Amino acid sequence: TNFHSLGLSKQLVSTLSALGYETPTPIQAQAIPLLLESRDMIGLAQTGTGKTAAFGLPLIEMLLKDPKRPDNRTTRTLILAPTRELVNQIATNLKSYVRGMPLKINSVVGGASINKQQLQLEKGTDILVATPGRLLDLVARKAIGLTTVRYLVLDEADQMLDLGFVHDLRKIAKMVPARRQTLLFSATMPKAIADLAGDYLKDPVKIEV
Ligand code: AMP
Repeated sequence: TNFHSLGLSKQLVSTLSALGYETPTPIQAQAIPLLLESRDMIGLAQTGTGKTAAFGLPLIEMLLKDPKRPDNRTTRTLILAPTRELVNQIATNLKSYVRGMPLKINSVVGGASINKQQLQLEKGTDILVATPGRLLDLVARKAIGLTTVRYLVLDEADQMLDLGFVHDLRKIAKMVPARRQTLLFSATMPKAIADLAGDYLKDPVKIEV
């Protein structure tokens, strides 16, 4: 299999090729076609498996197919992750996939200037990568609204629960539209994660690598 046969467009495939991505990893081969069919997904996967591209590439593909520019202070895609490091890593990877494409990726994390982040969000965002606490601070400031979110990703969900983000996640889940595609990735699947998935995902397909 190659990325084109999984359903990604030529432009994205040639970007991947330039990055040295020729062969999809197992999680990418499983996830990409299902996500392009708009399925909700539970992914049991560790980092290092190519997880970021597994969810990032189909989201980018779907955003490119719907070239509606985001309004000020809105985002079409929300990716939540437990730590600053992971948020930055996800954003860096996704930015490398959209080079030269009309998609704007922003990231917001605690411990950095909130005013700067507010300014970044002014012009609208296609993909926002965030830690839950800082996202809620920015929502409270009306720097960002979540009513246009079409795609929601919870990455390293088990870590987010361990770090005590469950209340933040519940608040955020109430702010995004019910009509959306939701993806949850976790290295482990304790009952608390299964419950979270039961609350937030609709008829999810489960993949495991
Ligand atoms: P991740 O599991 O998302 O943290 O990705 C692990 C590393 O593998 C990252 O440095 C990616 O850039 C790289 N990577 C992901 N998918 C591929 C691929 N299909 N071919 C080559 N490298 C990849």
